[in-house]
Amino acid sequence: MASLTVENYVKAIFKICLGEDSPRATTGQLAAALSVSPGTVTSMLKTLSESRLATYTPYEGVRLTDEGNQLALRVLRRHRLIETFLAQALEMGWDEVHDDAEQMEHVISDKLIERIAARLGQPQFDPHGDPIPTADGQMPVLPTHSLADCPADTRFRLARVVDQSPDFLRYLTQSGLHLNVQGRVLVHRAEARAITIEVEDRQITLGHEAAEKLQVAVGADLAIPDRVRVIPGPHFASQKTRAT
Ligand SMILES: [Zn+2]
Repeated sequence: MASLTVENYVKAIFKICLGEDSPRATTGQLAAALSVSPGTVTSMLKTLSESRLATYTPYEGVRLTDEGNQLALRVLRRHRLIETFLAQALEMGWDEVHDDAEQMEHVISDKLIERIAARLGQPQFDPHGDPIPTADGQMPVLPTHSLADCPADTRFRLARVVDQSPDFLRYLTQSGLHLNVQGRVLVHRAEARAITIEVEDRQITLGHEAAEKLQVAVGADLAIPDRVRVIPGPHFASQKTRAT
């Protein structure tokens, strides 16, 4: 098993590339994402290159090899399954599960994680709506839209929360916005950057900044799908996300 640091670097590179829709991450982006100095990043990138997990080109950045991509997908699978387990089996809130998953993702065995996946019924999405890579490195895809792009009268289901800071998640819970809740856009005032939605007989007005952090499924995807399409990794379409 790769070291904790290696796994965190690989995961960070993967998420930056996915979020930016770019094949490479820069040392600056990595230093910011991991809260370390650029010098620390540079020396770690040498280690990753030597282990054939990534290739580093000075002034251009780092990209994961197929092996690096597969490792990143395995770490994401562990992380997201642990979050799902903590939420479903231990009834922890979606604002509580991330930090423990961040620790456990590096130590849990493949055998145990697959037992958890089986017990949970092979879930495809975690408590924040993030897709859980399959054991063979494929990523489920569900087309979603930013709530901030939805016109009045759109019926929607909250499918994914991009900002997973505990404060924002608690605000959503207090507003009655939990994952998979269905609602309707009542008023969308683009000029005021405000959107009013109705969810379970409750009206909530959100600024665009908050609405942009909510990904919704509409139309045929309104109902919770049994199984969604998976696209083979590691080269799948990107969806922006800020945490896991
Ligand atoms: Zn997480």
